[in-house]
Parts: sequence; structure tokens; C-alpha cells
Amino acid sequence: MADDLLRVRDLSTRFFTEDGQVNAVESVDFDVRDGEVFGIVGESGSGKSVTALSVIDLVESPGRITSGEVWYRNADLADEVRDDTPEAVDGEFVDVRRVPENVRRALRGPSFSTIFQDPMSSLNPSLTVGEQIAEAVEVQRRARSNPRTTRSRTQGFGLTDLLASTVFPSRSYVSEESRAEAIDLLEQVGIPDPAERADEYPHEFSGGMLQRAMIAQALAGEPDLLIADEPTTALDVTIQAQILDLLRDLQEDTGMSIVMITHNLGVIARMCDRVGVMYAGEIVERGTLEDVFDDPVHPYTRGLLGSIPDMDDPAPRLQPIEGNVPNLYADEMEDRCYFADRCPKAMEECLDHPPEFDVETGEPSGGRTETGEHGARCVLAQHEYDPSRALPEDYFRSEDDTESERESQTEEVSADD
Ligand code: SF4
Repeated sequence: MADDLLRVRDLSTRFFTEDGQVNAVESVDFDVRDGEVFGIVGESGSGKSVTALSVIDLVESPGRITSGEVWYRNADLADEVRDDTPEAVDGEFVDVRRVPENVRRALRGPSFSTIFQDPMSSLNPSLTVGEQIAEAVEVQRRARSNPRTTRSRTQGFGLTDLLASTVFPSRSYVSEESRAEAIDLLEQVGIPDPAERADEYPHEFSGGMLQRAMIAQALAGEPDLLIADEPTTALDVTIQAQILDLLRDLQEDTGMSIVMITHNLGVIARMCDRVGVMYAGEIVERGTLEDVFDDPVHPYTRGLLGSIPDMDDPAPRLQPIEGNVPNLYADEMEDRCYFADRCPKAMEECLDHPPEFDVETGEPSGGRTETGEHGARCVLAQHEYDPSRALPEDYFRSEDDTESERESQTEEVSADD
């Protein structure tokens, strides 16, 4: 089994809005191993993207990471910060949340890089594509030329550059070497005629080419971990497949790890080695692809899998998950399993408090997996479903619903009369 590159522990992120506190990410734990693709899947609003932003420290106000640790394995970084922040170091691992802000910022590029779902809004429309990739290359190139890398990376465009660009506005920030490397990167991600296309502006690129350009930019720092946040959502199906193949090829060539964030189980099945399923800000099930797809424990995971067509057996109707994702305002979240009001297997014990994440041991879902890591935030991870303890079907129906139902029944009777 490969070593862990990243260990995320008990990570929570809140948004402090005028309407109240939103618990967007709640005590999330997961590991990412060397050279693997770890998938995070869930509906819109489940906390997937905020989890990714929290890992790379890009949560903006009014959001704030309120607790948790992000341990990143990097022996050089551990040596560099050990004296000043010994509490942030454990062997070769560094808790990047406990190192100074400039060090954290310096990790973006060579350690963690990101590609977002909408490349058109992520690239600057007033600069050529090549110029934007060359800028990313330039920052990393300057950093590599200085042994105190964290310092130089945070100062990629320093006071001298600022003054020079004011006095000589036509002076380019990037060197010819960086331009050449940008063209190489465009070629690496499959852009035809990269030298010519590098001089074009984003609006001259198709959606698929823009996403390739974004990937090229993300690769400029040769990152250990690439976070791909819905990288194919804005693309048509054929281009989606090409981009996913490209990411897989790049991952195999470079050995980097990928965190793939998506609402699409097909993308997870095609790309990922292990997967975490998110619901209401929590990872509710986690395991290998086979664990989660062939032997799901959490009723939400089962619901997601039941709502996609089976090409080998197209006869049964698709089963949607009834109800809606809860809003995540802290003062409206009840002290119970957050999925209980949509869960077909909700029992009395599900109302006691939000379940802990447990390793799967229950039957008939199967025994503990070899790595002992398949688990779920659900009482069914440890106990069998007991129909005698099931909640009544209308348990979560509010009095308002019941009242309006009664009224509509009365109206129907009157109309019949
Ligand atoms: S804890 Fe209970 S309500 Fe929640 S998902 Fe599991 S069975 Fe359903």
C-alpha cells in the first residue's frame, strides 16, 4: 500500500453570515496516498468544494476554518519549519494549518495545485493563454533558483518588479525560458500547434482547450497534489472523457496524487482508487471504489447508486432519493443523523445524536475489508437494520404538511360533491 501524502483530520469550516452560522464542513477526515486518485462525491451544497478550499487554505470571508489538521508529507518542509514551529511537525509530516501564512501560501503551486470547473471565468480575458501559463512557470522558476524556497515563492512578484513594471509598462514579467516552458506544458496537455495557440486569448479557445490550458497552468509547479474541482462539468460528454483520460495519463506520468471532486458517480467510477461520499458537510461513507460501489453501507450512498441507470439491466425504474439536502444553518440542524428525514432505514437510535464514523462490520453488507478502512457515519456500519425499531413513515412530516394535506383532501371531497 502506498504511503499517505495527505492526512486530513477533523476539519471543520463555518460561514458566519448575516442570516446565521453555516456549518459547511463538519469534522471531515480522509487520507490521500501517493499517486492515487481520491474522489469526493455528493450533491450540490454537500460541502465538497469547501472541503477542497479548506485543504489549500483558500476559504474566503465570511468563511473560516474553525478546527482541524491538514498533515502533508514533505521531509524538506518538515526540516525547514521544525525549529520555528515544532508543534507543526510529526516525522516527515507537517500540519500546514499550523505553519505561518507565508509558508502556507508558498505551498500553492509546487505542493498543492487546483483546477476549477469553469476555466473561462478562471483565466484572465485580457492576457494571452501562454502569458498566463508562463506567469505560473515564472513564479516557480524564481522559487527554484532560491534555496529559501518558501520566501521566494511568496515574493514571485516583488517590489522591484512592481516598480519596474510601473516605469516600463511594456516590460514583461516572464522570461523567455518561462514562455518556452509554457508552450511545452500546452503541448503536454494536448493543445495542437502550442506555440501559435499560446499567443491567443481565452475567448479564442474552445471549452475543452481552456480546461486543458487550466491543467497546464496547474502543472507549472509540478505539484504533489492536484485538486480537480468538477473539472468536466461545463464540458460536453466527449470532451469530458478526453479531459478525464488526460488527467489519468498525467497522474500516471508524474506520480502526483489527485483529489477529484464531482457530483458525477460515473467520473468517480472511471477515475478514482478510493472515494469519500459527502452529505450535509460530512463524509458519510469512505472506502475503496469497490467497497463503496459494490458494498455500500450508508443509505445515502445506496440512494445515489440507485439513482443511476444500469446499462446491463435497464428495466427497473430509477429510484430518486426523496426530499432535499438540509440547509446547514447551525441553529436549524437537529442533534440527530442529518440524513434521517430522507432515510428509508431510519430507526429510533438514529435520533439520539449524529452517528460517529464507524468501520463497517455489519451484515449482510459484508465483513471488515482487508485495510479495515471501509466505514460510514451510520448506525448500519455496526448494526443490522431492525424493522421493529423503524420510525413511522410520517415521522418527519411537519404539522404544517399534515394540515395542508388535510385541507387539500377536504377540497377534493368538496369538488366531488
Ligand atoms: S444513521 Fe440511521 S438515519 Fe442515518 S443514514 Fe444510517 S440508518 Fe439512516
